[in-house]
Amino acid sequence: MASNASVLQKYLSLPQKGAIMAEYIWIDGTNNIRSKCKTLYEKPSSPADLPEWNFDGSSTEQAPGDNSDIYLRPVAIYPDPLRLGDNIIVLAECYNSDGTPNGTNYRHECAKLMDAHSGAEIWFGIEQEYTLFDNLGNPYGWPAGGFPAPQGPYYCGVGNGKVYCRDIVEAHYKACLAAGITISGINAEVMPSQWEYQVGPCPGIAMGDELTVSRYLLHRVAEDFGVTISFHPKPLKGDWNGAGCHTNVSTKEMRAEGGIAAIEEAIGKLAKRHKEHIAVYGEDNDQRLTGRHETASATTFSYGVANRGCSVRIPRSVAKEGKGYFEDRRPASNIDPYLVTGIIVETILGSIPDVDVAKQVLKA
Ligand code: ADP
Ligand code: MN
Ligand code: MN
Ligand code: MN
Repeated sequence: MASNASVLQKYLSLPQKGAIMAEYIWIDGTNNIRSKCKTLYEKPSSPADLPEWNFDGSSTEQAPGDNSDIYLRPVAIYPDPLRLGDNIIVLAECYNSDGTPNGTNYRHECAKLMDAHSGAEIWFGIEQEYTLFDNLGNPYGWPAGGFPAPQGPYYCGVGNGKVYCRDIVEAHYKACLAAGITISGINAEVMPSQWEYQVGPCPGIAMGDELTVSRYLLHRVAEDFGVTISFHPKPLKGDWNGAGCHTNVSTKEMRAEGGIAAIEEAIGKLAKRHKEHIAVYGEDNDQRLTGRHETASATTFSYGVANRGCSVRIPRSVAKEGKGYFEDRRPASNIDPYLVTGIIVETILGSIPDVDVAKQVLKA
């Protein structure tokens, strides 16, 4: 339900008497975000200052009812743009009662890979596409029981009838900036009521962290407007575009003079592990990767310069300058970003003992 914003405003400005509201957020057993809030009496300067906490994992598809405690270990802090003041958002990893990472905690292995390869100075930029729905389950702003005019005028659209829900998008953009998220831009997408924002470039593990917090903020802002966010990769069947999470990648070597050689070498390695990558590039991604609507097929790997019908694209400007980054166009909008950034590092920079990114998902 949408909140009554003008009434809420009155209470939000009440004094907190030095207390800090810390909204702990985590990824649940269905790849959605959950949160709960704790009062602190001292301002933390790093995650190590924050208390570990717990929740009932049997209510979030993360634990059985007879052993339901899941522990939240803080890993990153962001200023809370919705509560302002000293209030914070606390990103947490989930651990079982025996101290092992919970089956949904893909950050744990990802962080090991990022640490092992920190010398490569890898950066990521993720283009998060998503779709807005009303409370009846229709794309937000679409005519009741019908369809808008076919795709064409909506991508980067301007003007009434060409663009939907810009208010929510603007509010989310500002909220991300205020939280210190490296949001690098937004644009309206090909399907009406579908949008994209980009986060990055972010180094290593920060990519997954910032994308997760940006998704939390998107759900929260849309909640205030009474609108539902869908990250499904093919939210509507038929001649409507799907939604992805194009993942842009560069290492120090790729960004340096002559870096195109390192880019081509990396793409060669990606070609050899297409299956493993597809396994962690999002559920129902096969509905999106059809070879139509600016996608490549899910079953074969391809790459090209400036080609948006390929699995991997080298931007024209990168080919021209002979250095920069490449774009992996395969990941779906509903990815776990730690799985995706983790397997890219594993494939192009090398595996490490006791870590196998795809296996975490395939075992389930
Ligand atoms: P597209 O043309 O595919 O729509 P966008 O402009 O939407 O591209 O997104 C490009 C993304 O690439 C942004 O998130 C940006 O931060 C990221 N990016 C730019 N340079 C680099 C780089 N050197 N390494 C990794 N990511 C980068
Ligand atoms: Mn884009
Ligand atoms: Mn896009
Ligand atoms: Mn792209």
